[in-house]
Amino acid sequence: MKKNWDLFIDGGYRPAISGKRFTVENPWNGETIASVAEGEAADIEAAIDAAERAFGGWSSLSGAERGDIMHRAADHLKKRLPELVTIEIDQIGRARREMTAQMARLPEWFSYFAAVARTHEDTAPPFAGDYLNYTKRVPLGVVGHVTPWNHPLLILTKKVAPSLAAGNTMVVKPSELAPITSLLLGEILKEAGVPDGVYNVVPGFGATAGAALTTSARVRKLDLTGGTETGKRVAAAAGANLVKIAAELGGKAALIAFEDMNIERVVAATLFASFIATGQTCVQGSRLLVHRSIHDEVVKRLVERVAHIRLGAPQDEATQLGPMVSQRQRDTVERYVRIGVEEDGATLAYGGTRPDGDAFDKGYFIKPAIFINVRPDMRIAQEEIFGPVVCVIPFDSEEEAISIANGTEFGLATSIWTRDIARAHRVAHKLLSGITWINDHHRIDPASPWGGFKMSGLGRENGLVAYEEYTQIQNIIVNLSDTEFDWYADDGQPKRYS
Ligand code: NAD
Repeated sequence: MKKNWDLFIDGGYRPAISGKRFTVENPWNGETIASVAEGEAADIEAAIDAAERAFGGWSSLSGAERGDIMHRAADHLKKRLPELVTIEIDQIGRARREMTAQMARLPEWFSYFAAVARTHEDTAPPFAGDYLNYTKRVPLGVVGHVTPWNHPLLILTKKVAPSLAAGNTMVVKPSELAPITSLLLGEILKEAGVPDGVYNVVPGFGATAGAALTTSARVRKLDLTGGTETGKRVAAAAGANLVKIAAELGGKAALIAFEDMNIERVVAATLFASFIATGQTCVQGSRLLVHRSIHDEVVKRLVERVAHIRLGAPQDEATQLGPMVSQRQRDTVERYVRIGVEEDGATLAYGGTRPDGDAFDKGYFIKPAIFINVRPDMRIAQEEIFGPVVCVIPFDSEEEAISIANGTEFGLATSIWTRDIARAHRVAHKLLSGITWINDHHRIDPASPWGGFKMSGLGRENGLVAYEEYTQIQNIIVNLSDTEFDWYADDGQPKRYS
């Protein structure tokens, strides 16, 4: 991989106007993997200029023409996946087996939204009188994407594919911890035939580049994935300019395991939901709500099995869990482990400490943590930790499980584990949860809406709704009558509404 990366604006690389640069660290060994141009407000302006210039051409292509280019983008992306996977692992420390599985699916987003661009139909709503009435969905203009580090290219792809399909041009501010794959996507889109200036990337920090993009009145929609506090700030800035906002924010997902579920399946589900990505996903299973009658057996098996998860070098195929992304993120997890231990009643049944051994010395490793005897009102059961920590909470009734599941400020995702089909749906319908899985967790599809209730966000990614949220409706009302109409003439003719 090359070491020096610049901003990607107007189809090519260029240094930041200030000449500043920042470094990207490999969280597995602390080594610097890249030096990246640090964009600031002036660079964001230059990127918006390029996106504005490109808008006329890109938006005037037909959906089918944009769709063809996007299908080629899917093919190019597929070819470059091995390189992208390796870079993503170096940037964020996630295990190879996870990154390979996740990123293999990314081309589907371009194919799906290419198909939407080609096939999307407008509407002809009824209109009183002799009229032809129809709607057209037209693009918004220049849109801004602000992305986090935890699934850098997946989250960006979820925003870029519908934006392109709908005919928008864009400026991306990727996470300062993981900007490289977003830059590489620029090369891939260019190879596929996306015109220069349609896709621009300005790496930099939230307080400078991010703030410049999100306070710009020239951007017509902001799409942010990040923490809830960042979401509130960005939404307030967007409100000041009446800019449309989509925000995919924090979560405190629960698994609800009923007593009729096979114990081993509950245990496997919890390990997967809670610890994949070293717990650094927005839908991380941070709370296991388990029926009291199977609680002790589930806890016993969880503790036995978690000890066998293999921590190690993220690039190694055999590794099951990598380090956390940064010192800061591990500090946060360690702080919450201390809070959990100090809170009256909770017991740390496993993990929460750094693993022993030279292999782990330089990386931000932490052993997955299981808390038991947790009460729903404790801080560890309420606040987003964003790490490999699960709080086990027993329940006695369906109503109690629903109330605990809904009892946080978040509402992103929940999974229900039961063989009772009626109960599964009944519970799902009472959850304040944007995404609900029944007998599964962490499942996503480009066609299926993704987003949260309450403080977990605004708007939806994926599916037709995401395409539509990247458009605005133009309503065209055609009078089919040749009868002359003159409101002010005293001609004895019936007037409108009379
Ligand atoms: P973060 O909020 O720190 O940063 C996200 C992005 O916002 C980064 O690019 C950052 O530079 C930028 N930013 C920060 N402050 C800004 C400001 N004042 N103005 C403009 N931009 C600013 O989040 P993170 O640590 O990168 O990611 C973790 C968070 O993301 C977690 O809370 C997680 O739940 C959330 N997340 C949500 C989803 C979802 O689909 N709902 C998916 C992944 C992650």
